[in-house]
Amino acid sequence: AEDILLRQEKLSVVGELSASIAHEIRNPLTSLKGFLQLLKGSFEVIPSYYDIMTDEISRIESITSELLLHAKPQAHNFHQENIQELTNHVVTLLSSQALINNTLITVNSTKIPPINCIGNQIKQVLINLLKNAIEAMPNGGDIKVDLAVTSNKEICIHIADEGYGIPKEFLNKIGLPFYTTKEKGTGLGMMTTTKIIESHGGRMNISSEVGKGTQINVYLPIEPILS
Ligand code: ADP
Ligand code: MG
Repeated sequence: AEDILLRQEKLSVVGELSASIAHEIRNPLTSLKGFLQLLKGSFEVIPSYYDIMTDEISRIESITSELLLHAKPQAHNFHQENIQELTNHVVTLLSSQALINNTLITVNSTKIPPINCIGNQIKQVLINLLKNAIEAMPNGGDIKVDLAVTSNKEICIHIADEGYGIPKEFLNKIGLPFYTTKEKGTGLGMMTTTKIIESHGGRMNISSEVGKGTQINVYLPIEPILS
């Protein structure tokens, strides 16, 4: 038990540190991007160089925004949120990406009470999980999202895809920093997702079958105990 506590303490120090570094990197990055935009058009340079630079800056941006989520969440940021609305919002956000990839996301929900959470962080969790689901189906397919109350204290967000699945031997690698099987992946999505769920007092389990698809259950307490 001592080991676990020590590990958690180390992880939270690393989290705080990476979040504050990420914060410091953001401003210079934004100005870099702005000036690059201005330069485009003023010099005779192969245009694709600008696109490469812009792409790479966007990549740094997405890594830093993932890392920013690792700061310890503040109690005053927790609010009562309608998870059904929040989920529909995220599905709308991702609808163009889903369409391009021939995937259809459907949301089913029973009546859910408001959840005390950091809305933007739960949105981020849904974005990360749904993006992975879309990316797991290069030839398209269905993604089902089910929202349900599992007890008087907890809700469950169930996400199922029909993608390529995760081999058993790699399941325990999911969520390790920088673990990715994608050419352009960051390997930070699942780490951030796990971290956010834990800081909300929730938990997540993954089951998967290669060639069939992946199911993810996220359990969130309706009223988390905040320290
Ligand atoms: P990234 O998406 O940038 O690769 P993530 O942390 O989001 O990083 O995911 C890590 C890895 O977990 C992915 O590269 C993929 O191998 C695996 N993975 C996550 N979700 C799924 C899924 N729904 N289906 C198949 N593999 C998945
Ligand atoms: Mg991902």
